[in-house]
Amino acid sequence: MKAEPVAIGIFGGTFDPVHYGHLRAAVEAREKLGLEDMRLLPAGTPPHRTGTFASAENRLAMLKLALSENCGLQVDDREVRRAGSSYMVDTLAEFRREYPGSPLLLMIGQDAANALDRWHDWQALFGLAHLVIMRRPESVSIYSSELEEQIQSRLTGQVADLKTATAGLVLPLEVTQLAISSTDIRNRINQHKSPQFLLPDSIISFIREQRLYADE
Ligand code: ATP
Ligand code: MG
Repeated sequence: MKAEPVAIGIFGGTFDPVHYGHLRAAVEAREKLGLEDMRLLPAGTPPHRTGTFASAENRLAMLKLALSENCGLQVDDREVRRAGSSYMVDTLAEFRREYPGSPLLLMIGQDAANALDRWHDWQALFGLAHLVIMRRPESVSIYSSELEEQIQSRLTGQVADLKTATAGLVLPLEVTQLAISSTDIRNRINQHKSPQFLLPDSIISFIREQRLYADE
């Protein structure tokens, strides 16, 4: 008997640094979606940002520190290993080649969803994966009319629907709303204020040792 292809959750970000907002959302989304495989993918050279603050290696190292306990989440370092900029559409195409029969679930926060039509070749994303929009603090959905149309025509409220196809649906998902952002954490560190309890202590120690996010 052939094993059924397992659905894969793909949660991309710069994770500069990763924090409890990301981690809590990932854990809850994994549970709500019943996923055995949920991956956090640090971006290599992000295409729609001027740059990251910490290097890809350090952002990857911080993610590994965050997930060292048995939390059901994994790090996938493919974008960091790939040279040059990494577009999500290329990353998903690579996943699709690797896992032809698996539902792929692209996890994004509402703020990222609002700007989805600025991603490279964004319409192609729906042919490669489902989209799971995680509701985030103070987030409102503001879509361009083209994006709104795509999302509305693909919308489902049923988690089970995501296993009936390998790609193409959009599911909004409520997760506990933690008003934490990497920008705020970087600013606090830069101003010599404590970021404690916004992210794991192990990462705070790493940031201190590596002198990340301090004044240049
Ligand atoms: P920055 O402030 O540098 O933009 P960030 O905190 O927004 O950092 P990103 O790495 O940009 O983190 O976000 C990666 C993904 O995580 C995006 O899809 C984003 O919407 C989502 N995300 C960020 N913060 C939260 C949060 N507090 N709760 C849930 N999802 C979040
Ligand atoms: Mg962000």
